[in-house]
Amino acid sequence: MKNIAVIGAGTMGNGIAHVFAQSGYQVSLIDVSETAIEKALATISKNLSRMVAKEKISEAQKETTLNNIKTYTSISDGVKDVQLVVEAATENIDLKLKIFKNLDEVAASDVILATNTSSISITKIASVTNRPDKVIGMHFMNPVPIMKLVEIIRGYSTSDEVTKLIMDLSKNLGKVPVEVNDYPGFVANRILMPMINEAIYTLYEGVAGVEEIDTVMKLGMAHPMGPLQLADFIGLDVCLAILEVLHDGFGNPKYAPCPLLVNMVTAGKKGVKTGEGFYSWTHGTKELHVSDNFKK
Ligand code: NAD
Repeated sequence: MKNIAVIGAGTMGNGIAHVFAQSGYQVSLIDVSETAIEKALATISKNLSRMVAKEKISEAQKETTLNNIKTYTSISDGVKDVQLVVEAATENIDLKLKIFKNLDEVAASDVILATNTSSISITKIASVTNRPDKVIGMHFMNPVPIMKLVEIIRGYSTSDEVTKLIMDLSKNLGKVPVEVNDYPGFVANRILMPMINEAIYTLYEGVAGVEEIDTVMKLGMAHPMGPLQLADFIGLDVCLAILEVLHDGFGNPKYAPCPLLVNMVTAGKKGVKTGEGFYSWTHGTKELHVSDNFKK
């Protein structure tokens, strides 16, 4: 594989494009929004400069990486001549089904179609294509250039050959792939999201404040950051979407999203990406400032 396409240039798409381009792949980065593409290229450039400053890569490697990325606003233009597509568009099932139906029509029949979905069924996504054996989950973690794990999710019909290829490819990117089966939330979010939801319930019920909850989990459980801070980094809309998939998929009320999370997303307080969630991020992401809404 030499040429790959990434669909969606948001939080995850820019990181996925970055790691493929840095490993020498030719990347077509596709987004419907020109603004998202410009922001993604600026983020990749900034992250590469940081690596140059830390002497992890040279200035020349930074330039080569950036030159390996071409951008497109149309899927059919962007997937010409690629061997793999990694879809990282918004976490919305109708949108993903539409994109995969379209991809199946415009990409050559041997192209592998991977999705970075956090929770949507790979089997369901594969069912709208004529190549369910070549549809697979490739779940990178945020921030992609730093986090080692890739959860590789086999849909009901994903072939052994495609699974092996994607496992090997992930290793070539310097990542550690872990193979899992296709059930709601897979492994990562099935375990992580109930913890985040419980932290939000703990705040909602007034058991403790934002800083107290995060401090207990950081210092008490040796987590690198508290669950509320992590939720802000992931995006509260993404957390809500995943909890809804778990709730619908298992039909178990233990996954019901906390009403506070629903309210925050409805009010547009989605965490780092909108400047406010449990914390205020208008000062940048280095220091923690509890949002005015949660100050005592
Ligand atoms: P995001 O909102 O930051 O970015 C999504 C991008 O998709 C936007 O730029 C949007 O313009 C673009 N888009 C929407 N419709 C499109 C279309 N039809 N064609 C092309 N582009 C389109 O979202 P994100 O956080 O990067 O999440 C992307 C995917 O990655 C989701 O499936 C999410 O569940 C998954 N994911 C997210 C995280 C995380 O921490 N945020 C972690 C792992 C996986």
